[in-house]
Amino acid sequence: MNKLSDRINRLETSATLAMAAKGRELKAEGKNIISLSLGEPDFNTPEFIKDAAIAAINDNYNKYTPVDGYDDLKQAIINKFKRDNNLNYDKSQIVVSTGAKQSLANVAMVCINPGDEVILPCPYWVSYKDIVKIAEGVPVEVPTTIETDFKMTPQQLEKAITPKTKMLWFSSPCNPSGMLYSKEELRALADVLQKHPDIIVVSDEIYEHINFTANGHASMAAFDDMYERTVTVNGVSKAFAMTGWRIGYIGAPSYIARACNKIQGQFTSGANCIAQRATIAALEAPVSKISFMIDTFKERRKLILDLLSDVPGFKCNAPQGAFYVFPDVSELYGKSFRGKTINNATDLSMYLLEEAEVATVTGEAFGDANCIRLSYAASEKEITQAIQQIKAALS
Ligand code: PLP
Repeated sequence: MNKLSDRINRLETSATLAMAAKGRELKAEGKNIISLSLGEPDFNTPEFIKDAAIAAINDNYNKYTPVDGYDDLKQAIINKFKRDNNLNYDKSQIVVSTGAKQSLANVAMVCINPGDEVILPCPYWVSYKDIVKIAEGVPVEVPTTIETDFKMTPQQLEKAITPKTKMLWFSSPCNPSGMLYSKEELRALADVLQKHPDIIVVSDEIYEHINFTANGHASMAAFDDMYERTVTVNGVSKAFAMTGWRIGYIGAPSYIARACNKIQGQFTSGANCIAQRATIAALEAPVSKISFMIDTFKERRKLILDLLSDVPGFKCNAPQGAFYVFPDVSELYGKSFRGKTINNATDLSMYLLEEAEVATVTGEAFGDANCIRLSYAASEKEITQAIQQIKAALS
């Protein structure tokens, strides 16, 4: 008898786990693996945020918090949504969670019934598919390519919609592709959704501030006709270098926020009290306080794109946000290097790990078998060294 639930058995083992295990093995053998696989900034949390956390500890913040977050944190989130996104929420629409990952899991658990379809433009963030599956939904993948900068077109969205479609989930800026929807592009997708008023949209905006365009960030919920059916997900992990603090949040229609509050109350209760206090400092600060990180990412993006343009078989576009490049490497499939044949993205990632001693992430983890993801949340020295080693391993 299988002792585990069907729910857990339905989940695929993460394609990244085998890579991570191999990386650890090679490190244990004394190899100096350069990691371009991380989904987190390599900066320290800014001092003003750390100071707020230290003050919170000294002020004896130690009790359970309200399930959906401290009242003054919810106010700071409301102010942030207004300031950065021109979104008006009240406190009944905000839920603070243990990372945006929990925010997403809450939304899935409260919105998806077994068999409901959830449209995921590919490439998508690695956890979307499995979160949807845990909620017994059916992921519907919509492939995109590097030629269209990994953007789902309105026609593709229209085609993917069926009577069973419950939700559309996407991130913009996108992890892993760095793709960014402009306001016009979001509007065109919203126009398709107008014909399907029951579809709920999850707009994951956690990379909002890591945006290299002059046009700024566009939010789906900022369209009046989308506001009542869009859940805006955000958090402090990426822009504030606070991945380990674990704070994410949503702005949502009240009925969804109430339901998220209810499920979170049973699963985890309120998020960590000290991290919530620190998040108030993060969100109340002007965005200029973190712009040094964004400027650094922009320089590194240029560096890695320049270096990759010289690597045969790597077709790149210029990502407009986040801190990843997602080259199409399918030209290398079927070729052999140092006696090893590369048949797919996972083979290439594994080969680069073993032979170039560089950790990347296979695109298969993100629903795109033509690409691999390289994170440039690493120093210029590491990036330069890593790409040189990749080039040598493929020559
Ligand atoms: N959404 C996207 C697109 C991400 O890339 C990540 C983290 O990698 C998350 C959500 C989860 O963020 P958090 O650290 O707040 O759980």
